[in-house]
Amino acid sequence: MADKTRAAGAQKPKASAAQKVKAPGARSRRGRTLSLVIPMHDEAPVLDSLFRQLDETVGRLAVKLEIVCVDDGSRDATLELLSTRAARDRRVKVLSLSRNFGKEAALTAGLEAASGDMVVPLDADLQDPPELIGEFVTLWEQGYDVVYGVRSDRTSDTVLKRASANLFYQLFNSVSDYPIPASTGDFRLMDRKVIEALARLPERNRFMKGLFAWVGFKQVGVPYVRPARMAGTTAWGYRKLFRFAVDGVTAFTTLPLRIWTLVGIGAAVLAIITGVGLIVRVLMVGRDVPGYASLMVALLFGFALQMIALGVMGEYIGRMYQEVKGRPTYLVKDRIGFDS
Ligand code: UDP
Ligand code: MG
Repeated sequence: MADKTRAAGAQKPKASAAQKVKAPGARSRRGRTLSLVIPMHDEAPVLDSLFRQLDETVGRLAVKLEIVCVDDGSRDATLELLSTRAARDRRVKVLSLSRNFGKEAALTAGLEAASGDMVVPLDADLQDPPELIGEFVTLWEQGYDVVYGVRSDRTSDTVLKRASANLFYQLFNSVSDYPIPASTGDFRLMDRKVIEALARLPERNRFMKGLFAWVGFKQVGVPYVRPARMAGTTAWGYRKLFRFAVDGVTAFTTLPLRIWTLVGIGAAVLAIITGVGLIVRVLMVGRDVPGYASLMVALLFGFALQMIALGVMGEYIGRMYQEVKGRPTYLVKDRIGFDS
């Protein structure tokens, strides 16, 4: 509850007021390193403009810069382009995964490889405007450990995508104990200690937005307008998004499991009432043979409920199986530009 109010109240940071009164946690960016973590899957068409834009924005902040690019099993020239860039730009580091592990895994890999005092995950397609990072750093200097971007306007997304995203946040936050501030993504600045906290979470199902909310710390939101994808296409179809949503919910609440106890009790009570009613009826008006339709309906309904309950358990058991196997979240094929 306290989390919820803070997240809502934190949407509009009073930057000017906070600057005048020096916050107790204030710190300076001087001599500090900022790591950008960029997961990339088939992003060759956007790389040039991405790096140009990074130079014009974060390149001008008075911090040391480290750009960790995670090649998530790209099938195009992404890796080649990145290695040539890393060869002439020491700020660029490349982590190449052995295959496509998905964005969450790629992000995890990048966060673990990043060494900065501040770390900012960023989408390669410039949908997370890098010019905002300057503001993030200023708020970090004021003592905030997590500065997250809030998409104040999603008109660049389709109506259906926006509606499904809204529905997801509402559902998620009504069942999860750790609410995600609405309309936030992975785009945020995190202090070193937050990164260390994330590294301590051993789970393989990396629903990053949820984990970011779970770790806590002093957080603040900065509203921004999310632009359309610059080039290329989104790798997220609706099927993938649905899997993602189920991953998120199962990782943060067991309510779908527990709810079946209530449904079961409700069904049992209903059955008892019906049974008593039937007995009374037989005693009063005698046996009533027709009843096939109602019987079938009750039977099918009960059957359907059981199947749903089994399916829900399957979702959790499948995930437990994944976690128990203990396979690594990702495998690294190549590291370029690190330890230099
Ligand atoms: N991405 C990735 N692995 C994947 C899919 C996507 O690393 O399997 C990266 C992608 O290159 C981009 C970021 O994740 O930098 C966000 O992907 P996208 O723009 O396709 O998603 P959307 O913006 O539609 O959520
Ligand atoms: Mg995108």
